[in-house]
Amino acid sequence: MSEQKIGKVLYSQTDITKRAKEIAAQINKDYDGEDLILLCTLKGSVLWFADILKNITVDTKIDFVSASSYGASKTSSGVVKIKFDPEINMYNSHVIVVEDIVDTGNTLKYLLAKLEERGPKSVKVCTMLNKESRRTTDLHADYVGFEIDDLFVIGYGLDFDQRFRELPYISYLEEDDVEAL
Ligand code: 5GP
Repeated sequence: MSEQKIGKVLYSQTDITKRAKEIAAQINKDYDGEDLILLCTLKGSVLWFADILKNITVDTKIDFVSASSYGASKTSSGVVKIKFDPEINMYNSHVIVVEDIVDTGNTLKYLLAKLEERGPKSVKVCTMLNKESRRTTDLHADYVGFEIDDLFVIGYGLDFDQRFRELPYISYLEEDDVEAL
């Protein structure tokens, strides 16, 4: 197995769980008295999703979706496919899509258009990380954990070639390793 150099810790577990609590508190306020569906995007969002979910106090159902783009592993090709469709009935419900990271916005834009076909009352986006500087679409994230620079981040659910998801913090791969892809 090739060795990749992991960079500094950008956000610790403590930072992330604290931020998830703040965002969940905002969601609880915004959806007070309403039903909610939290949709976890697999696989990268699982840890962040759990942190948000643990702090939600409004009536909530959960489901999972997997969407990914074809092509190179570190950039979105713009051609998206849904690999796993949520089973839950979203008609007339408020939905929040819980994402790991929004980069160009391609994947999420496609997914949101698909979800709209199911007739939800509303759809919003809650992402752990946002790379606003990389956006090539008009996609807007409603709840953002942290804004980050243009780095290839790993850990806390985020992978590089399916590795590093288990790290209890967010870091990044040193430039040489990313360029060697
Ligand atoms: P987008 O379609 O917004 O360009 O890309 C979104 C997806 O690309 C994310 O859900 C994630 O799977 C992947 N991605 C984008 N940036 C990064 C990154 O810095 N690190 C990792 N591990 N995945 C990323």
